[in-house]
Amino acid sequence: MGKYICNTCGTQYEESQLPPEKCLICEDDRQYVSIDGQQWTTLEDLQKTHTNVIRALEPNLTGIGTQPDFAIGQRALLIKSPQGNVLWDCIPLLDLNTITRINSLGGISAIAISHPHYYSTMIEWANIFDAPIYLHAKNRPYVARLDPMIEFWDGTIKTIGEGLTMIRCGGHFPGSTVLHWQGGAGGKGALLSGDTVTVAFDRKFVSFMYSYPNLVPLAPKTVRRIAAVIDPYPFDRIYGAWWPRVIETGGKAAVARSVDRYIAAIEGRFGEQNED
Ligand SMILES: [Zn+2]
Ligand SMILES: [Zn+2]
Repeated sequence: MGKYICNTCGTQYEESQLPPEKCLICEDDRQYVSIDGQQWTTLEDLQKTHTNVIRALEPNLTGIGTQPDFAIGQRALLIKSPQGNVLWDCIPLLDLNTITRINSLGGISAIAISHPHYYSTMIEWANIFDAPIYLHAKNRPYVARLDPMIEFWDGTIKTIGEGLTMIRCGGHFPGSTVLHWQGGAGGKGALLSGDTVTVAFDRKFVSFMYSYPNLVPLAPKTVRRIAAVIDPYPFDRIYGAWWPRVIETGGKAAVARSVDRYIAAIEGRFGEQNED
């Protein structure tokens, strides 16, 4: 008996006698089943082999990531706010050390998650910290473990605290969301983008994909739409989903030039000169 967690994507399933036959997330065409076949673990086993690194990133922002890397390897972000702390995105490993450290920072009042690749063990987090989880309703079909702690929301924006706005962009998933943090980057604003607007390895550009592991791009009109919905929100910094994937400053301009380059590439700017 256990609540099994997929080793490749980190998604936790409802309690069952035997591991599920398949992982809903890995069978989806955005992801993949490991070359070794479907493998499962549990939170209890993960706690024996992995630990979380918890690190301040800027005033009122803390990163939480697992070491050594597990599954997709994203790190979550905790925003400290006088109205209650918000956890942006989630990671599979939750242990006593993490709970103690987060409680010393004021706990968690709300959990907001960009898309199904980071749903991980969200119900464990929600129950431990007694915090509701805000998910976009269009991603409901991808929830492996439904629970009353989940609050589905519809439409384009949802305010979850003062200066904290979830913005539904679509693209990668129908309900792919980013979080705008007005107080981030010293008051210039920060975009917590998951991989809806993914920070590239050069930390100068962002990108937008239907599937990152399987290298499937999005249509130009979809990319323009993502840029249009975040355009009204001021931000200087962009926090992608992994520790190094941060655009420290000039985030707004980085999105604009990335959209231009992306659309030019899709429409054929690169490659033709390499044909001969
Ligand atoms: Zn999986
Ligand atoms: Zn993803």
